[in-house]
Amino acid sequence: MIIDLRSDTVTIPTTEMKEAMFNAKVGDDVFEDDETVNNLEALGATLFGKEAAIYCPSGTMTNQIAIKLNTNSPGEIICDELSHVYKYEGGGIGFNSGLASKLLKGNNGRLTAAQIEAAINPDDVHFPETQLVSLENTCNKGGGTIYELEEIKKIKRLCADKNLKLHLDGARVFNAIVEADYSAKDIGAVFDTISVCLSKGLGAPVGSLLLGTTTDIKKARRIRKLFGGGMRQAGYIAAAGIYGLENNIERLKEDHHKAKELGSTLEGLSYVKKVLPVFTNIVVFEVVDAIDYTTIITKLEKKNLRCVAFGPQQIRLVTHLNYTDDMHVEAINILNSLS
Ligand SMILES: *Cc1c(COP(=O)(O)O)cnc(C)c1O
Repeated sequence: MIIDLRSDTVTIPTTEMKEAMFNAKVGDDVFEDDETVNNLEALGATLFGKEAAIYCPSGTMTNQIAIKLNTNSPGEIICDELSHVYKYEGGGIGFNSGLASKLLKGNNGRLTAAQIEAAINPDDVHFPETQLVSLENTCNKGGGTIYELEEIKKIKRLCADKNLKLHLDGARVFNAIVEADYSAKDIGAVFDTISVCLSKGLGAPVGSLLLGTTTDIKKARRIRKLFGGGMRQAGYIAAAGIYGLENNIERLKEDHHKAKELGSTLEGLSYVKKVLPVFTNIVVFEVVDAIDYTTIITKLEKKNLRCVAFGPQQIRLVTHLNYTDDMHVEAINILNSLS
């Protein structure tokens, strides 16, 4: 038994999901003729109370399309220094949208309205015009941290006041929603555009949705084509997204529960210096200085527990829907066995 906790993107579609894919009614989605894609887009938009949605191959593409449609080069985007849009999208902010990035140091990936306000450029020819704020919820590199709705609302008021657009990288927004005291509609009400991954916790093999106004999504369709992301009979994969949205949201709590248990197991172990607080499905721990953390990764790998290096001396484990109860018992044994 191989226990793969490298990411929540490693999931393989279940039999039920594959059946939904097999039975999908499809058409040419570039002509907007694929009824399964159309249904997925309508379902996503309705869930968040947005007017429209567009289905794309990846979360990188939905983020990059959103950044482009919300701005006009030259200009500047404000985001946390840990954010995926900046760190893990290949420099797309500069390349695709011609923007400068102002990176702020938040609280494990989370920014405050006060911090953002202080970072907005004055109306002065020397500075790029601040045009967009991008938040990430949950924040991957922050260890799965969750935003408070009150802070997001403050940020929204600031953006409205300063004429800035507000984007959410919601790759794992459902992990936040099932833990926090707010709904998808609360999130939909504050952001101009929202990117949601179907291929993370929801278990679909591919795909992300970008949500926004009808006008924004019309623009997004043009940019998706420009980026080479127009797909044809995409209903076969979109069906997996519908299945994920309809069946796999509430169960994310199980992933969070298991992640917390992994966190508390690690707390007591001799090779562990520190475990970062576990908020959702991401567990990050630091290995003691005396041991090179890559040797721990290799030892775990040899016992069939897979995880990834996350930073200096840091290792990340991510729980997901293919991580069964049996695997969980075994993973705890393996972690204990190295101590
Ligand atoms: C995974 C992820 C994305 C999108 O990644 P793709 O692999 O391009 O789908 C975006 N933001 C965050 C925070 C992510 O974890």
